[in-house]
Amino acid sequence: MYAFDYQRASDAQGAVKTINADPEAKFLGGGQSLLAAMKLRLAQPSTLVDVTRIPALKTVQVDAKTVTVGAAVCHADVAANAQIQATLPALAQLAAGIGDRQVRALGTLGGSLANDDPAADYPAAVLGLNATVVTDRRRIAADDFFLGMYETALEPDELIVAVEFPVPQRAAYEKFHNPASHFALTGVFVAQFADGSVRVAITGAAASVFRAGGLEDALKASFTPAAARAVSIAPDDLNTDLHASAAYRAHLIPVLTARAVTKALG
Ligand SMILES: Cc1cc2nc3c(=O)[nH]c(=O)nc-3n(C[C@H](O)[C@H](O)[C@H](O)COP(=O)(O)OP(=O)(O)OC[C@H]3O[C@@H](n4cnc5c(N)ncnc54)[C@H](O)[C@@H]3O)c2cc1C
Repeated sequence: MYAFDYQRASDAQGAVKTINADPEAKFLGGGQSLLAAMKLRLAQPSTLVDVTRIPALKTVQVDAKTVTVGAAVCHADVAANAQIQATLPALAQLAAGIGDRQVRALGTLGGSLANDDPAADYPAAVLGLNATVVTDRRRIAADDFFLGMYETALEPDELIVAVEFPVPQRAAYEKFHNPASHFALTGVFVAQFADGSVRVAITGAAASVFRAGGLEDALKASFTPAAARAVSIAPDDLNTDLHASAAYRAHLIPVLTARAVTKALG
């Protein structure tokens, strides 16, 4: 690992100011992705600005319409939060299935979204729930946030402060996980809203999280496992790697969607 400086930020403005003044500095969340990249010499930041002690990034607020989670809240705290469990159980369950205990104790929502690993779980919830990513300077709709593999709409010095998740009528997340890392080989987040609209977000299957329009239309017409299973997904833009072929992932998407619908229906 290269030498670097470490600073602990006490507020968002200070953290952004430091990053803004030094293009080689980077925000540090739980370090679960960034420190690994540094050890592999894929990243060489001059300074790490630790944002995990900023009080404004550590809060969780829950009401009947919205669950707002601070960017520095770790996965374990989302999983264990009784209000999230009661209001948006799909989000708590998704967080509980990320990685292992150490990853969940350190990894943060903001770090996961900024990193935008193509197999990460949170992007599916953000896109599936039509969430809003709140940064130090603007609000970014989920549909505009994820741009491609490890690529988001964030500016280099832009800090994620929180994410606002609308509370749907029902929702569920199902993933077929890689047994070594627990990352999603393919994961599906399904949400049905009070106005009858349905969103289906897929992670792990392509270069970036994406919405499955065919499944959304089918589930809007009939929110049943059978309707999901009847949809066929083309493998053309899906990933083939050592873990699974594109055809296998295409097969998994309706299967996992049907399981998610079953779970959402209770
Ligand atoms: C063994 C292992 C297994 C894992 N399994 C899973 C899994 O099953 N599912 C899953 O989804 N993930 C998994 N992860 C990833 C984990 O969820 C990480 O927490 C996540 O990818 C990065 O979050 P972090 O807080 O550690 O961010 P860091 O590693 O600290 O930072 C990642 C990137 O985000 C930036 N950043 C951090 N915070 C902010 C912020 N508030 N605003 C803007 N930019 C910011 C950093 O500058 C950096 O570029 C796994 C990781 C490991 C090591």
